[in-house]
Amino acid sequence: MSKSNLKQIKQKLEDERLLLIEKLKGNDLSIDDSETPDPVDLAVRNYSKNVQLAVSENESRQLTLIDEALRRIDDDEYGVCLNCEKPINPKRLAAIPWARYCIECQELVEQGLIDDEE
Ligand SMILES: [Zn+2]
Repeated sequence: MSKSNLKQIKQKLEDERLLLIEKLKGNDLSIDDSETPDPVDLAVRNYSKNVQLAVSENESRQLTLIDEALRRIDDDEYGVCLNCEKPINPKRLAAIPWARYCIECQELVEQGLIDDEE
């Protein structure tokens, strides 16, 4: 995985994270693509508001996956399947940047054949 690809993925994860945090707050989304708010500032602000609110299970789970993926990028472990430890297909990562497993292992997880770590 090239550095610039990784940077793009990281950006995508961070954008998605902010969107989720907005959703979890239960607010209407009014994201203007032409605006580029400081992501750190936004994240901090949204996070502190967010903690007091009830969160939807799916969205908070996805937020966890996104946080995990961001941590793996920082740890240089991103893009590797958590089960078979093979590289995950870049196309899959482009579509689902928070994917934990390669396609083969994801199917096994969905069939209950391997344990999804949690
Ligand atoms: Zn795998």
